[in-house]
Amino acid sequence: MSKSILVTGGAGYIGSHTVLQLLLSGCHVATVDNLDNSSEVAISRVRHLAGDSGKHLSFHKKKSNEARLKKIIYIKIFLNCRFDAVIHFAGSKAVGESVAKPLLYYNNNVIGTIILLEVMAAYGCKKLVFSSSASVYGSPDRVPCTEDFPLAPMNPYGQTKLMAEDICRDLHRSDPEWQIMLLRYFNPVGAHPSGLLGEDPRGIPNNLMPYVQQVAVERRPTLTVFGNNYSTKDGTGVRDYIHVVDLADGHNAALNKLFEKDSKIGCEAYNLGTGKGTSVLEIVSAFEKASGKKIPLVFGERRPGDCEVLYAATTKAETQLNWKAKYGIEEMCRDQWNWACNNPYGYGKSDSNTEDEIISTKTKASDSWFSDVCITS
Ligand code: UDP
Repeated sequence: MSKSILVTGGAGYIGSHTVLQLLLSGCHVATVDNLDNSSEVAISRVRHLAGDSGKHLSFHKKKSNEARLKKIIYIKIFLNCRFDAVIHFAGSKAVGESVAKPLLYYNNNVIGTIILLEVMAAYGCKKLVFSSSASVYGSPDRVPCTEDFPLAPMNPYGQTKLMAEDICRDLHRSDPEWQIMLLRYFNPVGAHPSGLLGEDPRGIPNNLMPYVQQVAVERRPTLTVFGNNYSTKDGTGVRDYIHVVDLADGHNAALNKLFEKDSKIGCEAYNLGTGKGTSVLEIVSAFEKASGKKIPLVFGERRPGDCEVLYAATTKAETQLNWKAKYGIEEMCRDQWNWACNNPYGYGKSDSNTEDEIISTKTKASDSWFSDVCITS
C-alpha cells in the first residue's frame, strides 16, 4: 500500500528533488513550505515531472514563522491526513547568516523541530527522517568521518543541527516507539537532469557551486577561492560533493529502512556523501570542462570557521540503507550547468508563458533520467 509522507520544506533545493523521487516511487506526499528561500514554481515543476503521480502531491503554504501559527498549520495538516512518516527539511541553512542571526537559526531550526515533533506525537506519527548536516562534525582530526566521530559544530547553524539531533535522541530514549533517521548531508550540488529543478539561492550565494555557476553565466565577475595554503593536494579546501538526486534517493532508502517489517531502527545517524574528497580547484576545473566557460578566480583569505578537509565514511549507509551515491563530479557539474543554462536567474524570472515553454521542451516521460529513478515499494 502506498505510504503517506509529510515533507516540510518541500519547495526547497533538496526538498523538491526528494518530493519528486517520493512521488515516482509511489508515495502520497503533502508538503509545507514558507517559501522564504524557495519558490512555488519548484512545486509545479515537481508535479509536472512526476507525470500521473503528480496528483498525489499537495502543497500547503506556511505563511508565518511565528511558533504558535506554525503549530496551528501543522495541526491542520495532521487533521486532514494520517501520515506514515515525516521528512523534516524546513529550516535555515546559511552558515554565515547563522553567525549574524543566531536567534533566527535557533528559532527556525530548533524550536521549529520541537513544534513539529509535538504535533507528530499528538497525532501518533513517530517515524521521522531528519535533515542534519556534516557540519555537526566541525573540523574533525581525521577523515573519512564516521558517524561515531565527536560532534563539535563550529557555527550556530551546525549547533542547531546538533541540538535537533540531541532532541531526537532524547525523544527516542523517552519513548522507544519513535524511529528517527538523522541524515548528515555532505555538500549537495548539481540539479535534476531535466534542467527543471535546481538550487536558487537568494542574494549572493554562500556555497561554492552556485557561486561558480553565477560566475559562469557572468552574473558575478570572479570567484574568490578562500585560502590556497591548506595542507591539501593543491592548497584549497577539500569537501565531499554529492549529487542532489543521489541525496534525494538517500531519503527514499531511509524511509524504506523505517518501513521495513520489524525494523529495529531507533534513532540512528547516517552520513550521506560519496566518500570522495574534491578540492575547490578541482571543482572549478570540472565546471569549466562541463560548461566550456572560463571561471576567473582570485585567491583570498581563508574563510573563518572553514575546515581543511571533510569527507564521509559511507559504509554505514551502504550496508544498512542499501544506498550508495551513483554520480560523480562530472555529472554534478553537467547537471548544474544544464540547470544554469535553462534558468540563468533561477525560478524567479519565469512568467507563465515561458514557464509552460520551459516545461514542455524539457520533459518527456521517455527522458533517460526516468529510468535512473530508484523505485521502491
Ligand atoms: N569556497 C570558496 N569560495 C566561495 C565559496 C566556497 O573558495 O565563494 C570554498 C570553501 O572555503 C570550502 C569549499 O569551497 O573549502 C566548499 O564551501 P561551501 O560553502 O560550498 O561548503 P562548506 O564549507 O559548508 O562545506
